[in-house]
Amino acid sequence: MAHHRALTTSDLPTYHSTASVPSLRSREPVEVMERPLTPLENVDAGHVKVVVRVRKFIRRELDKQSPCLIEMRPHNNETILHPPPATPEDVKGTRRQYEERSFTFDKSFWSHNEKDAHYAQQHDVYASFGEDFLDHNFDGYHTCIFAYGQTGSGKSYTMMGTLDQPGLIPRTCRGLFERIEAEQNSSITYNVHVSYFEIYNEHVKDLLTPRTNPPTYLKIREHKSDGVYVQSLTDEPVKCYEDIERLMRMGDMNRTTASTKMNDTSSRSHAVFTLTLKQIQHDIATDSTIERLARMRLVDLAGSERANRTEATGQRLREGGNINQSLTTLGRVIAALADPKRQRAGRMTGLQNQAKRRAEVVPYRDSVLTWLLKDSLGGNSKTAMVACISPTDYEETLSTLRYADQAKRIRTKAHVNQ
Ligand code: ADP
Repeated sequence: MAHHRALTTSDLPTYHSTASVPSLRSREPVEVMERPLTPLENVDAGHVKVVVRVRKFIRRELDKQSPCLIEMRPHNNETILHPPPATPEDVKGTRRQYEERSFTFDKSFWSHNEKDAHYAQQHDVYASFGEDFLDHNFDGYHTCIFAYGQTGSGKSYTMMGTLDQPGLIPRTCRGLFERIEAEQNSSITYNVHVSYFEIYNEHVKDLLTPRTNPPTYLKIREHKSDGVYVQSLTDEPVKCYEDIERLMRMGDMNRTTASTKMNDTSSRSHAVFTLTLKQIQHDIATDSTIERLARMRLVDLAGSERANRTEATGQRLREGGNINQSLTTLGRVIAALADPKRQRAGRMTGLQNQAKRRAEVVPYRDSVLTWLLKDSLGGNSKTAMVACISPTDYEETLSTLRYADQAKRIRTKAHVNQ
């Protein structure tokens, strides 16, 4: 509940904002909207939210007249994967057994046919948890959103989107500044920073510095109290949405891409976009300063397709191995976090619980991705995964749905194809 009272500038803290919010410097009394920064506590961040999104056909699929194998029932969020129709080779008796599979997630987004009544647009995806996650950030807690799926399944579209159809990252950034602007008369000072890095072959590269040849890899360090961090990573202060937009564009240009047989610009790296929100409030009653720091991690994961699928050799094969390893670890971490026993262990404090915590340890350290995101995964942090699927690739779609399902631990039903 917001309380109004008149403050004069002498009531204001001496530090001032580096964000877009104008600092209150007039001599006139100003109406201040109070939103006291509440003390941090062990909140129930809820389970890991897993949603699935199917994209429309792309040119290559239209040319091949590929069938749509996905059906979604929005009323109960069920996603059904149908077996592909028989081909002439199958008639000769070589058809493998496909099953119809059904999965239920927190939400299924039908982005396949714009003419359908339940067609999900970019803002539908954001509205389903983006706003809620921002609330959590303004309460002082971290959040993390991943896009998972094979190359070409719509991860970048979901996370970054296009100029006309911005995705989760630009929408979150806009939402953040809209809220800050709406609270410009509050006694809270806001600081926003942006970093953007990629993890390629278990190495970290800054996306906000020009590319070098050979590439510059940054070291990962662990600080006793501040936790894991990337040494010398650019962490740019931003004052408005346009500042972020410039950085997003720079980062995307620097992103590593390497061509594979499946997709000419397929991305072989995980891209981690981080917004850091620091809120500072001066408590006049006690003449003390309260600070709240929250990180929003928005992660476009590397393509989940198996290395052998793209007939990779040498360097590409090694990339594939590292990608698989980090995605497997991420799956295990998320599954561990979805386990209530481990969640309780993660929140335990005190010496007597140390042994218990160790026994139920989450395998963060098994990949650079999960190690770096440790503070945003588990504890009070909210996590969501968007499983992106192609409407027509049975094998890869099944593997994505299984991965998402394992992360969520929702029961699946298998129907044998008659
Ligand atoms: P990924 O990042 O998984 O490799 P992209 O996001 O690049 O895949 O998507 C592949 C292609 O499909 C792009 O041309 C993209 O614009 C298009 N696409 C993906 N999802 C959607 C969607 N929901 N609606 C319209 N086009 C989409």
